[in-house]
Amino acid sequence: MSTAQIIDGKAVATKVLAELKEESAAWTKQTRITPGLVVIIVGNNPASQVYVTNKTRTCNELGWHGETRVLPEDVSQKEIIDIIQSLNADNTVHGVLVQLPLPKHLDEQAILDTITPDKDVDGFHPVNVGRLSLGIPAPVPCTPLGVIRLLQEYQIETKGKLAVIIGRSNIVGKPMAQLLMRKGSGGDATVVIAHSRTANLPDVVRQADIVIAAIGRPQFVKGDYIKEGATVIDVGINRIPAPERPKGTRLVGDVDFETAVTRAGAITPVPGGVGPMTIAMLMRNTLDCAKRLAAKE
Ligand code: NDP
Repeated sequence: MSTAQIIDGKAVATKVLAELKEESAAWTKQTRITPGLVVIIVGNNPASQVYVTNKTRTCNELGWHGETRVLPEDVSQKEIIDIIQSLNADNTVHGVLVQLPLPKHLDEQAILDTITPDKDVDGFHPVNVGRLSLGIPAPVPCTPLGVIRLLQEYQIETKGKLAVIIGRSNIVGKPMAQLLMRKGSGGDATVVIAHSRTANLPDVVRQADIVIAAIGRPQFVKGDYIKEGATVIDVGINRIPAPERPKGTRLVGDVDFETAVTRAGAITPVPGGVGPMTIAMLMRNTLDCAKRLAAKE
């Protein structure tokens, strides 16, 4: 029975943000351009508001322009598209992000497609999805990018390893697979993507040197799914009842941490694992977009 190394995403995110602050200060001095990010949020879902506030606050802490546009719940498709088009044309804005989910009356894909690929800091635009697949530099979805950085920081070898990703979403699972199968550092893995139709999931996961759980089901992956010494990356964020806590709830991942920690070689906690890396990588993407846009001018 092993006790795993805990992968501290908060510490790595702090390090990434400090690097970005230094890098962007030098770049701004040279170019007189300050990176700018606008986050659009529709309605007043409290969870989404917390995420959005964290994003713009982090931007401001780096000395960048970070702005939140709060749109009413009943905003029309045309109004939101007009706003995005004006941000696309605004050369003080280098990143545009629409917080998901959107209310049902809005066409989410059409809205995401309106963001110019050059300012698509989430990496969700079909052009950027294609670029990732082709290996062309472009913004890459923040959460998988953060996972790769965590693996690199902890010198967890991916080359030749079997990585099993549980979840095939466009936001996490699929781009995660693309990154892990890329040639070079943080890639060169043999990748399996599992999902709700996978047969004998525990047996599949038991083969993995690296397990990445992005399922959206609290504590779904049990310790006995984990091969002794494997690396476990828990992307899940789920709120479950916890009567002993003042708030009455607590956050858990998609992995049953208590049992997995006894078998894994290294594991991310929830909270404090992948979550902080997502925002840090959003900032990375914003600076990269600003640099690429400046190089085009
Ligand atoms: P989705 O709901 O889009 O995708 C979930 C995936 O899990 C699907 O591919 C689904 O399979 C699969 N799945 C569901 N049930 C099972 C099962 N019983 N066995 C195997 N596979 C299953 O979720 P996301 O990818 O958007 O998010 C996943 C989790 O990550 C969530 O908890 C979310 O909150 C969290 N998250 C965390 C982020 C962070 O910053 N840390 C950022 C983004 C997400 P199928 O396709 O067959 O339905």
